[in-house]
Amino acid sequence: ETHYPTFAHLLHRLGSQQVRNRGTLGGNIANASPIGDTPPVLLALNAWVELANQDGSRALPLSDFFLDYKKTALAADEVVSRIFIPQLADDAVLKVWKLSKRREDDISAVLGAFHYRIDDGVMQDVRIAFGGMAAIPKRALQTEAALTGQPIAKESFQAAQRALSEEFHPMSDVRGTQHYRHQVAANLLERLYLSLSVPNQEVMLHAYAH
Ligand SMILES: Cc1cc2nc3c(=O)[nH]c(=O)nc-3n(C[C@H](O)[C@H](O)[C@H](O)COP(=O)(O)OP(=O)(O)OC[C@H]3O[C@@H](n4cnc5c(N)ncnc54)[C@H](O)[C@@H]3O)c2cc1C
Repeated sequence: ETHYPTFAHLLHRLGSQQVRNRGTLGGNIANASPIGDTPPVLLALNAWVELANQDGSRALPLSDFFLDYKKTALAADEVVSRIFIPQLADDAVLKVWKLSKRREDDISAVLGAFHYRIDDGVMQDVRIAFGGMAAIPKRALQTEAALTGQPIAKESFQAAQRALSEEFHPMSDVRGTQHYRHQVAANLLERLYLSLSVPNQEVMLHAYAH
C-alpha cells in the first residue's frame, strides 16, 4: 500500500477472498499463466526472482523466467524462493489496469502495467507489460520504444498503439477475441495518455463502487 499503491489495489481484485487468503505470489509467478495478475506488474517493475534447490540458488530477471506457454526457466528441482522488487524512484509512476468481466473472482482478459517517469515533459524509463496478450506475460518492448523520449502528445500514443498492434498477436478465447484484446490494450494506452494530459481527472471504478 505504501510503496506500490496501484499494485496493492490490484491485489484486492485478484481472485476472491478465499484465493487471496491461500494463494501466494510465488505460486502466481510459477503458475506461469499468461493471464496471471501479478507477473505483468512485476515485469513493469523490473523484478527479479531467486530460484533455489538443495544445492543453492540463482537470481534471474523475471523477464527471463517465462519462456513459452506455461514453460518457465525453473529446473525440475527448483522453487521460487524470493522475489526482489526494486523500489520506485521518487518521480516514477506505476499504473495497473485489470480488465475482467466481473470485479470479484474473475481472471483478466487483459491486464496492462505501465511504469514511467516524466522528465521535462518527456517520457522516460517506460516499461510496459501485458497479461492476456501473448502465450506468456510479456513486456511490450516496441511500444515502450515508441514512447520513450517522446512528449506527452496524442501522436506519441498513436505511434505506441501502432507498435502495440504489431508486436502482439493475442489469441481468441472465452475471455475475449483477438480483436477485443487488441482494442482494449490500445484503449489502455489511450487511457494513459488521457490521465497524463488531463491531470487529476482519473476515473477509477473503485472510487464509486466497492
Ligand atoms: C477461483 C479462482 C480464481 C482465481 N483468480 C485469479 C485471479 O483473478 N488472478 C490470478 O492471477 N490468479 C487467479 N487464480 C489462480 C491462482 O489462485 C493464483 O495464481 C495463485 O496466486 C496461485 O498461487 P498458489 O500459491 O495457490 O499456487 P498453487 O496453485 O499452489 O501452485 C501453482 C503452480 O505453481 C507451483 N508453485 C507454487 N509455488 C511455487 C514456488 N514458490 N516455486 C515453484 N513452483 C511453485 C505449483 O507446484 C503449481 O504447479 C484463481 C484461481 C481460482 C481457483
